[in-house]
Amino acid sequence: MNAGAITNAMTIDVEDYFQVSAFAPYIRRDEWDTRECRVERNVERVLALLEAHRVHATFFTLGWIAERHPQLVRRIVDAGHELASHGYGHQRVSELGREAFAADVLGARRLLEDISGTAVIGYRAPSFSIGSGNLWAFDALAAAGYRYSSSVYPIRHDHYGMPDSPRFAYTLPGGLVEVPVSTVRLLDRNLPASGGGWFRLLPYAVTRWAIGRVNTRERQPAVFYFHPWEIDADQPRVRGIDAKTRFRHYVNIGRVEGRLRRLLADFRWGRMDRIFLPQVQAQAPAAAARAAAPGAAAPRREPAQAQAQAS
Ligand SMILES: [Zn+2]
Repeated sequence: MNAGAITNAMTIDVEDYFQVSAFAPYIRRDEWDTRECRVERNVERVLALLEAHRVHATFFTLGWIAERHPQLVRRIVDAGHELASHGYGHQRVSELGREAFAADVLGARRLLEDISGTAVIGYRAPSFSIGSGNLWAFDALAAAGYRYSSSVYPIRHDHYGMPDSPRFAYTLPGGLVEVPVSTVRLLDRNLPASGGGWFRLLPYAVTRWAIGRVNTRERQPAVFYFHPWEIDADQPRVRGIDAKTRFRHYVNIGRVEGRLRRLLADFRWGRMDRIFLPQVQAQAPAAAARAAAPGAAAPRREPAQAQAQAS
């Protein structure tokens, strides 16, 4: 039961089914307001699920959703969960560019703070879209007042990923902490172990094995994520989409809630800030010392090195 001693991070990306990046070619954002909105009832179900297991989680919430459902944001905070930012309108970092990204993340943080009355210090990029081509995003997040990000997926994937980046929480030169979502290291490759489509596609036992391995072999907390629409088997089907997108979005969607119940029971779970910020604070003096020592900052600059190799 060693794994039981480690608290893992449970995270929910609060967006509606029509806002996922894979649907962007099919649903224009000016159509969003015309779609049937399901996020409120789905988040209510997620809140009930977490309450039944006495779990507090982190909700990376879109500004677009918060603006339209302020009471939902307050429900999340009142239930003891951490409110964090998923940006305003679910545009990938590379799609926004530097200036628009800086405005997006600052605006989303202020909006969420105004609605909730609580500090918002965490951010997750839509579609894990921080990678070797846009590491400037970390500076923009620090400048906008964020203290941590969970925006890198250290795997190879056709839509996202930075396979050479560190697999566990690390402090960037500007002080921001990046907490990558979890992977398992197998046969010299990082394999996804943290939710999303993989959680629906593969048997539950694979996720249980992977998180157990991160906890017992590497003695690290895992970071798991899912979306409210993933427990909504009755969501309106989006028509005219390609077969791969259809498969990825709908595969095993009726099984997710049952799997989540098992996952919540099989491991200990908590909020991102409570799991990673004490560690951040403990790291801070050492990080400051390394920054002060000439030439000693290299271990903290792995993403920058990855960028140099990639370019
Ligand atoms: Zn998202």
